[in-house]
Amino acid sequence: MDPIVDLDFIDNRTPEQAAACDTKVTAETNTGKGRKLYIESYGCQMNFSDSEIVSSIMFEQGFDTTSDIAQADLVFLNTCSIREKAEQTVRNRLGQINYFKKKKPAMMVGVLGCMAERLKKSLLEEEKIVDLVVGPDAYRDLPNLISEVDGGQKAVNVLLSREETYADINPIRLNSNGVSAYISIMRGCDNMCSFCVVPFTRGRERSRDAHSIVREAQALIYQGYKEVTLLGQNVDSYKWVSEDGAETVNFAQLLEKVALLDHNLRVRFSTSHPKDITDEVLYTIKKYDNICKYIHLPAQSGNSRVLELMNRTYDRDWYLNRVDAIRRILGQECGISSDMIAGFCTESEEEHQDTLSLMDYVQYDYSYMFFYSERPGTLAARKLEDDIPLEVKKRRLAEIIEKQRETSLNRNKLDVGRVHKVLVEGYSKKSDEQLSGRNDQNKVVIFDKKHYKKGDYVNVFVHDCSVGTLFGEAVD
Ligand code: SAM
Ligand code: SF4
Repeated sequence: MDPIVDLDFIDNRTPEQAAACDTKVTAETNTGKGRKLYIESYGCQMNFSDSEIVSSIMFEQGFDTTSDIAQADLVFLNTCSIREKAEQTVRNRLGQINYFKKKKPAMMVGVLGCMAERLKKSLLEEEKIVDLVVGPDAYRDLPNLISEVDGGQKAVNVLLSREETYADINPIRLNSNGVSAYISIMRGCDNMCSFCVVPFTRGRERSRDAHSIVREAQALIYQGYKEVTLLGQNVDSYKWVSEDGAETVNFAQLLEKVALLDHNLRVRFSTSHPKDITDEVLYTIKKYDNICKYIHLPAQSGNSRVLELMNRTYDRDWYLNRVDAIRRILGQECGISSDMIAGFCTESEEEHQDTLSLMDYVQYDYSYMFFYSERPGTLAARKLEDDIPLEVKKRRLAEIIEKQRETSLNRNKLDVGRVHKVLVEGYSKKSDEQLSGRNDQNKVVIFDKKHYKKGDYVNVFVHDCSVGTLFGEAVD
């Protein structure tokens, strides 16, 4: 189950628990290749998806993947720069990896992803164990870079591209439960939210060839997958135009194409941007039973002045209008989740209260909540003062988290007493006699196993709930 909150403070977890939540490590491929790659992914789903592309490229170069770092000839950390804490985690991890490198000096260590782009050479200079640094648009160059390292040099490529979408690369599914998989539909971001490093670390927005997306979804269906999540920083601005200009596909049309492949395939998507989500998308979701009624619609703040400073390009009224449209077209049952930032530059107590009142109005099922972390090079870092004291940020974040716990529980209580269609993902964490799956709204549902198994759709009558989970009985 996902944690109900994403804490940027009051972190009482052990290093092992923290690693299990924040990091994903490769699964094994044992095809007898000469060398082994171990890859850890940090940060957003896009990074996990990129690691699957990287593993595919490295597989072609003679690397199986391993989940045991001690077995690895090549260790990759696919990193995140979104908040300072994410970068610090990776720096600490490099220190730990040094222990393995000392035992096996030939082991190569590479830093991939957003930190690579942001920190480039300083990583090579300050972190002596790092042999190569590769940005998110340069993974096709990995074979050359590995040869350079094999030849005794350090290697860097952090060039960003306006075209690269890795459309033709068939990802190796690393962390999949065999039931659900991610499909990247676009890369980069053209929005310039003032707090965010993504436009700098991942470059300009570009949409992937719609046919290659449909082919990837089709291949997953053949392999037995039951759910795909279409990924992009702002899926609503997906727009692919064929080379001859004769064909154009927008996000609503893409959703429809994937949904039509197989009515047994659940289709999810993330992230929707409040300024771009259209009624056409909402009606497409309504039209197909297999498009999940769940929308991740990050608000970031409930106050219009703060939203303007954040350069989100919508205000509170616009956001609420979009929520009203979701409720009007898709009903109260549609799940809505958000990202929230506490203590952005100059945010007053009253403005913080506006975030809490927005949460009361929307009744989010779930939120990812953070306190503001200034990132070098962003618009906010250049133009605004990070003037809210850390203690105040933490207190406001705690209030936002408390509000979310309240609304998650309210929303979950509405699910009690109803039958939900659940896609089984595996055993529950606590018992092999119980299964865990998700309903349409992406909520975790736990129920007795009976004769059901991973990958089954099961109708479950929900009789109880907690803040993060629904509990029920299969009724088939
Ligand atoms: N593209 C998505 C969107 O627009 O909502 C989200 C992308 S970002 C990877 C995920 C979340 O991290 C953001 O929605 C925001 O809440 C949070 N975030 C980004 N930059 C941050 C910063 N400097 N400090 C705190 N949180 C931040
Ligand atoms: Fe960052 Fe804004 Fe782009 Fe999301 S939409 S990735 S928050 S710049």
